[in-house]
Amino acid sequence: MPTFVSHAVVGAAFACAAPRTLPFASVALVAAAVSALPDADVIGFAFGIPYSHPLGHRGLSHGLPFALALGAFAWLWLRSRGRPHAVSLGIMLAAACASHGVLDAATDGGLGIGFWVPFSDARHFLPWRPIPVSPLEPAAFLSARGAAILAAEIVWLWLPALSLAAGVAWTRRRA
Ligand SMILES: [Zn+2]
Repeated sequence: MPTFVSHAVVGAAFACAAPRTLPFASVALVAAAVSALPDADVIGFAFGIPYSHPLGHRGLSHGLPFALALGAFAWLWLRSRGRPHAVSLGIMLAAACASHGVLDAATDGGLGIGFWVPFSDARHFLPWRPIPVSPLEPAAFLSARGAAILAAEIVWLWLPALSLAAGVAWTRRRA
């Protein structure tokens, strides 16, 4: 995986696609949380669920069906409360969640992503994998390898995401 923080940064950038009448900071916060959410599956290790299991790390929670279900749930929840833009927010949150698996599939280590769990248990990577895989233990970042991983994530993930967000903010301010 890229680090938790990098997933959240990319997720927050998806808020740029939200309707401009909504509060950007709140939407970005929710999108960041949704984008980082799939890695909550590491809790499965504590319960003896193997990495390669459909419910293991990079399995169900990293797949596209999960992202779609999450978006549909958000849409229905927002609609039941009469909130505006329920459909577009549902689509945006599904995309933010799906971005997690896509980014993990661009890393150079670990097992592949169960993009189609529960319909297929196969694990996949993208053909192009420029992002060094991040260790699961935070302490591992206090090393030269940890610093190199963070530097690569800043180049490949933070800069494009923050540039997009800054561009949208600038455009909206001018409008
Ligand atoms: Zn992940």
